[in-house]
Amino acid sequence: MALRRSVAALAAAATLLGLAPASGLREPAPLDSSAALPELRIEGGSDVEVAHVRRVLARVLGTRVGAKARARLESGELREPLRVLLNSGRDNLTRYRIDGRELSETIVFDPAAFPLVETSAGTRSAPPETVLAHELGHAVFKLASEEQVIHEVENPIRAELGLPLRLRF
Ligand SMILES: [Zn+2]
Repeated sequence: MALRRSVAALAAAATLLGLAPASGLREPAPLDSSAALPELRIEGGSDVEVAHVRRVLARVLGTRVGAKARARLESGELREPLRVLLNSGRDNLTRYRIDGRELSETIVFDPAAFPLVETSAGTRSAPPETVLAHELGHAVFKLASEEQVIHEVENPIRAELGLPLRLRF
């Protein structure tokens, strides 16, 4: 897992720098092209943090459910482009446009929070990919139910990333 992720990060860095990846380094999944992300804004962090979050988001959007999220983002059916507001206060949530009624496209995200969640392998810290996957369930798929978000969005992405499934909210 760590190796796969570092390879993906290397490939993403190579893409950012406009370098041709060395043969054999390239990942088969389309996770390595940060430039190919749909229109979105990542705000509130340093350049390094923003680049890190773009890579995290690219890995999430490179999954099968992520591809559906990408299609929704590119379809124009959402009211606004996706916006990710970074914080370091462990806040991870999707804002409501109308309180309790209409979810917005703004995600508040702490990529270093690693919150503890109950999984099929016991209590585990949640990598930022899974936190963002979860919030995409709210912000992009417009699911208000935590159960639905976990089963329809977060867990399929966890499975594809080789992570244990989350049991409950
Ligand atoms: Zn949630």
